[in-house]
Amino acid sequence: MKLDETHDPRRKSWVKSANADGCAFPIQNLPFGVFRRKGSKEAPRGGVAIGNQVLDLTAAARALGLAGKALEAARAAGGTSLNPLAALGRPHWKALRLALSGALSADAPAKRQAAIARHLVPLARAELCIPVTIGDYTDFYTSSYHATNIGRMFRPDNPLMPNFKWIPIGYHGRSSSIVVSGTRVVRPNGQTKAADAEAPAFGPSKRLDYEVELGLVIGPGNALGKPVPLSRALDHVFGVVLLNDWSARDIQAWEYQPLGPFLAKNFASTVSPWIVTLEALTPFRAPALQRPAGDPQPLPYLTDAHDAATGHLDIEVEMWLRSAKMRAMKREPHRLSHTSYKSSYWTPAQLVAHHTGNGCNLRPGDLLGTGTISGPARGEEGALIEITQGGKFPVELPGGEMRAFIADGDELIQRARCARAGCVSIGFGEAAGRVVPAPAL
Ligand code: CA
Repeated sequence: MKLDETHDPRRKSWVKSANADGCAFPIQNLPFGVFRRKGSKEAPRGGVAIGNQVLDLTAAARALGLAGKALEAARAAGGTSLNPLAALGRPHWKALRLALSGALSADAPAKRQAAIARHLVPLARAELCIPVTIGDYTDFYTSSYHATNIGRMFRPDNPLMPNFKWIPIGYHGRSSSIVVSGTRVVRPNGQTKAADAEAPAFGPSKRLDYEVELGLVIGPGNALGKPVPLSRALDHVFGVVLLNDWSARDIQAWEYQPLGPFLAKNFASTVSPWIVTLEALTPFRAPALQRPAGDPQPLPYLTDAHDAATGHLDIEVEMWLRSAKMRAMKREPHRLSHTSYKSSYWTPAQLVAHHTGNGCNLRPGDLLGTGTISGPARGEEGALIEITQGGKFPVELPGGEMRAFIADGDELIQRARCARAGCVSIGFGEAAGRVVPAPAL
């Protein structure tokens, strides 16, 4: 993928808010989502975020008289989900991005600016929906730091399983409970067993946690029985969303053997409403993780020089917490995690190549979670269970509350940014969710 005029750091937008320092959605980003006007009964439809506005794609395409692939792409974004746009593929995405960037540029003719200005809706007045209908959801486990931190708690003498460095470990999750940012999260009831108890009990999870992840949104799928080679894998990735894989650690500990995560994970996963495209992320490509000396090289179907040189993404991801008390006291959220995706052991292309390596078919809109993103240093842990070392060392919040795990009323807010010298920084928006008490038994 090459840089083009849509990445030009000098390009400004006539939508003034897009030019503000630190704006998540400058003209170099142009993420896609699905929205409708707040409080309206209109059908949700595709939009693109610019500054503090969202541009209605169908109306803009008409007003601009788009043609060819750009028109086809805008039409595919006219429905209640972006799956048809995801299915079209990179030439279409690029054509639409080029057309939108040109029309939103400060250099666009005044007439073209006026033609679409009336199809902007302030984000503050937009209800943002889940951007794709997720057919299948797979969650990986790609951070060696996370895997080691967790493994140490369960297997002190053997924290990192020997297969970790050979295969991107994953499991099939559940898509029905993936919700968009702003959806409340109901604390799960479940079966747990205290170490010294004779029998398990059923009740509210006492060890509710978050997991800082990113989600890859699949573009064109592959036919059943036809693996996607590593060299073509990123043609099958439409873009990236934020993903908080809420996890009930006490339920997980009791249920996970021998088949892995189940009810500890599938009660809710929160995604951000904006899909940041791989085109927008091109300036932030990074080398694959330098494997420590002594680690095996990936098998041939999982490696090539191009992926090793530019296959990773440099995305800084954060998780913030604001408790009910902090809200009442008007305190700002407190940051718990600050980590970088590029420290993950496997690249996005490796996940796609491995997932389809057995002939498994991916479909447009499928979601591949990266797994919890943790880095090597303190503060870079991507989950409370790592930060508090299994709850032993609670975190103190501003105002004096202590947190070993998440309490009812806590709001968890995930954010991410890409920044690099010579580039305009881009953001992802938020994936936020407030926890409410478990249903009474
Ligand atoms: Ca996870």
